[in-house]
Amino acid sequence: MLFPSWQGGLLMEPVRRGDSGPAAAEVRATLASLGLVPAGPHGEGSSADSVLFDAACELAIREFQQQRGLTVDGVVGAETWSALVAARWRLGDRLLTRSVTEPMAGDDVETLQERLIEMGYDVGRPDGVFGASTERALQQFQREVGLLPDGGFGPGTMRALRQLGRKVVGGRPQLLRETALLRHAGPALVGKHVIIDPGHGGQDRGVVVPEGLLEWSEAELAWDLASRLEGRLSALGVHTDLSRGRDTWFSDADRAKFANAAGADVLVSLHIDGHRNPEASGIATYYFGTQSGASSTVGERLAGLVHREIVARTGLVDGRTHPKTWEILRRTQMPAVRVECGYLTSPVDRARLIEPAFRDTIAEAILVAVQRVFLPVEVDFKTGTMDMRELRSRLG
Ligand SMILES: [Zn+2]
Repeated sequence: MLFPSWQGGLLMEPVRRGDSGPAAAEVRATLASLGLVPAGPHGEGSSADSVLFDAACELAIREFQQQRGLTVDGVVGAETWSALVAARWRLGDRLLTRSVTEPMAGDDVETLQERLIEMGYDVGRPDGVFGASTERALQQFQREVGLLPDGGFGPGTMRALRQLGRKVVGGRPQLLRETALLRHAGPALVGKHVIIDPGHGGQDRGVVVPEGLLEWSEAELAWDLASRLEGRLSALGVHTDLSRGRDTWFSDADRAKFANAAGADVLVSLHIDGHRNPEASGIATYYFGTQSGASSTVGERLAGLVHREIVARTGLVDGRTHPKTWEILRRTQMPAVRVECGYLTSPVDRARLIEPAFRDTIAEAILVAVQRVFLPVEVDFKTGTMDMRELRSRLG
């Protein structure tokens, strides 16, 4: 109960400037809890009969009324009071369910509605009232994350929303939907569309390292890796496209646009790193993600799989998986991974990268990772265990 002194939380008389007593105290406390007036027990004056609903409270109420589309009079009547009470609720403070006779209302309901909309569910206008469309959207969400679709908002649903919702706030609303789309696409590789994106190209040779009479370039090695991966994917019935020709160059934005127009299921971007320090070595993978925590769930999984398969098969130094907002990751509408397959500037990595057999191993690792991202977790296999022949026989 919010204010025991008023039966059932009903406001008997309007509270206005100059008022003291329990009602004014309650209004002031509510304003303080909303951060609209400074916290603390005192209003104007310092004695026991100090004015609790003072000028600061009146101003705060006026601003609140204006913000909420109420009559701006600075007086707390029944309408303003119920709006204040509704504004106190934070998502997770209480259980939310649909009631036909007395619909639940509050800022927590509005937050829930906004989160559902961000994730692509249809709740209509976020009005802060828990109605039929909110219930339906919540049931759909619960079904998609494997919860009992009771249409009520409790701790389990809160947890699921936290885990998934965090990833979409401030990010691309379609990110969460990637999971659903991927599930819908099914586990078979046959008929999937994969864009292979060899970095750089044309005049842009990427990292270039001279070695004796030879000169190694990232662009050429990335192209070679891409061809090896393309051959393997095609052999398994995957529709593949390269984002550039052998000697041509496109911006990353254009490459992303190309992948989007093709309606591809996955994009794999291939690069080889370079650093002034020849000691720098190892493999790192990147997926779309921002500082605030918005990220591509499937992209992260794909990057993790590619990463682990390569590390397990090559023993390259583990440079981990990282979120980035690079164009090729940000502008693509499908799960995308960028792999930096070792450092061309590292004598250790370079000695391996220039071996065709080593590049075959990397291509195979990526192929297996791409297959794994389409598999439901139950039938997934262990990292570094599957080879191309086995994969083929499994796919029948
Ligand atoms: Zn590069």
